[in-house]
Amino acid sequence: MTKILIVEDEQKIAELLRDYLIQSSFDPTILDNGLDVIPYVRENKPDLIVLDLMLPGRDGMEICKEIRTFSNLPIIMVTARVEEIDRLLGLELGADDYICKPFSPREVVARVKAVLRRTSGATTIQAKELILDEARYQASLHGIDLQLTAVEFKLLSFLAAHPGRIYSRDQLMEQIYTDHRIVSDRTIDSHIKKLRKKIAALSLDEELIGSVYGVGYKFI
Ligand code: CA
Repeated sequence: MTKILIVEDEQKIAELLRDYLIQSSFDPTILDNGLDVIPYVRENKPDLIVLDLMLPGRDGMEICKEIRTFSNLPIIMVTARVEEIDRLLGLELGADDYICKPFSPREVVARVKAVLRRTSGATTIQAKELILDEARYQASLHGIDLQLTAVEFKLLSFLAAHPGRIYSRDQLMEQIYTDHRIVSDRTIDSHIKKLRKKIAALSLDEELIGSVYGVGYKFI
């Protein structure tokens, strides 16, 4: 059974979510204190975490960041404030999705399934001298790790999977963020800029990402 960790200090919400997940044949566990999360994750290796932002002990953002230092397990962040989403995305925590409270448990279950689908078919993409290992979120160029953030990795691997095809910023945002309505266009531009910088640092004569003025970006 797929193990889902629910980190939520509001007991009623946590239990409701747990019941819905059980109905959908998941195996959920609830933790209500931020301090317990990292030890639990290391010990039990859940398949996905639904992580509330405001928690006693330790906040969800810090927890997410720490998990990303040792694991790419799917994380869905939960926040009570819509205006926080932009900040969350800006911080590049490496979460896989975001949900706003109040949510319907049905919606959460749907998101859990979608994120699991998206993250389970992990493969390796190879294009030019670039190797993308989706299980590890690791991209290497000429055998050297590019040290990408999760968002940068997702962007690059999406573009590289469809070389030559031009994608608009909106299309790219849809790939990267499910809740793309609240993200500004510049978010993609700034991720692309950072990506190019990292690529350029390893390879002076190769440009992997091309921009098409007024349209978007493509993998060359
Ligand atoms: Ca909370």
